[in-house]
Amino acid sequence: MADEIKRPEEDKVHDACGVFAIYGHPAAARVALYGLYALQHRGQESAGIVSADGNRVWIHKGMGLVSEVFDDNDIAQLHGDRAIGHVRYSTTGSSLIGNAQPLLVRYRKGMMALAHNGNLVNAGRLREQLEDGGSIFQTSVDTEVIAHLVARMGNNGLESAIAASLMLVRGGFALIFMTEKQIIGVRDPNGIRPLALGRLGEAWVLASESCAFDTIGGEFVREVAPGEMIVLDDEGMRSRQIMPRGRDALCSFEFIYLARPDSILNGLSIHAVRKEFGRILAREHPVAADIVVGVPDSSISAASGYAEEAGIPYEMGLVKNRYIGRTFIQPSQTTRQFGVRVKLNPLRKVVDGKRVVLVDDSIVRGTTSKHLVKLLREAGAKEVHLRIGSPPYMNPCFFGIDTSASGELIAAEKAVEQMREFIGADSLRFLSVEGLAEATNLPPKGLCLACFNRDYPVSVDEQFRKFDLETATPASAEIVGGRPHAR
Ligand code: SF4
Repeated sequence: MADEIKRPEEDKVHDACGVFAIYGHPAAARVALYGLYALQHRGQESAGIVSADGNRVWIHKGMGLVSEVFDDNDIAQLHGDRAIGHVRYSTTGSSLIGNAQPLLVRYRKGMMALAHNGNLVNAGRLREQLEDGGSIFQTSVDTEVIAHLVARMGNNGLESAIAASLMLVRGGFALIFMTEKQIIGVRDPNGIRPLALGRLGEAWVLASESCAFDTIGGEFVREVAPGEMIVLDDEGMRSRQIMPRGRDALCSFEFIYLARPDSILNGLSIHAVRKEFGRILAREHPVAADIVVGVPDSSISAASGYAEEAGIPYEMGLVKNRYIGRTFIQPSQTTRQFGVRVKLNPLRKVVDGKRVVLVDDSIVRGTTSKHLVKLLREAGAKEVHLRIGSPPYMNPCFFGIDTSASGELIAAEKAVEQMREFIGADSLRFLSVEGLAEATNLPPKGLCLACFNRDYPVSVDEQFRKFDLETATPASAEIVGGRPHAR
């Protein structure tokens, strides 16, 4: 059978997004481009930038990586001293250029661009109401619902319209709006999705993660507070609380997997927090072993923490191929055993004859863990003890992290011992919820932990399907060892 060409992302059901904005820089679009490069890990399906000069706006967006969507000429056409950008990861069904962001709409006051990271839990209902009132939608993304609400409430100025509109929506969101004259950033009242404020010289910058400020040579100022609106215009930067602050509930998965290790969140280095996850995991679940191996790249920090705390040498037992690119030749039946090794290959000399502690950040379906344990055993590992730097992922997320239905989450279906059997490890242990909170210096109530303990910070209609708005349902898509990603 001939090998089939398929994108690896199609095997996963997860969405991710990163947002970026800069106001008051002569090369705003070019800076936004570098900002998006820094946020590329949050979304690889599409990228876009909208720029403005106070009177006109320009847009360029497309499907693919930032480096595939933009060339020098595209950036040269994006004039003005302000720009917003977006990177998106989408499911197959919504992988459409029409859904790429920023969304740019014309309303009665002029042009408005929106870039959104997150998910609204009542977008379907709001959209129905808007459609009943005659609104016509052009995309299947919930961001367009916000655009309609703001356009309808625009009589008293954009800031008031945004504030009034966002009182109607529920969910997790970091939103950036841009008109010809202003950039406005808002974070949801629970602070579920991250948004940070920075500076580049005299210019103001907003970004999903602080690593974007480092990339552009700027500086981190502070995180945008839950429910806070940041307005950037010719008068400078001003801030106001537009929504009553709810229970603080930053997504714990930002710490576990989503954010880049060089980002700062809640005043903490992501790398340091992950390392602490590993230390606590080693104290909670010690095991006699010869080496500790982390699954590259996201689990390296936790694995090094585990190794330090346990006094077991850290070794590079798995090598990651970083150059596969977006198209991947899926193996046929006869070449299937090559599939996993294309991405991750064990270092036989390192693992042969060893008792290995394998540290990974999370388990969604368990298929990747199963493959990795098998690879290590084939490379000669005597024992493989799997340690996970997060609690068992048991409940679906409704706030922008796509893990599909709980029926596809292995921890929702199986007890830990059954999972261990399925994966084929000698032992399997998870970080506790208390350990996770301890490492972040936050009380458990200061984090969203709903996918572990079902304590949703925003009430969710159990019938809610986060893909209500999508043109193709992801129920037909298959997760293959996917990890959750931010939308
Ligand atoms: S449910 Fe889990 S993945 Fe979703 S926002 Fe909360 S912590 Fe993050």
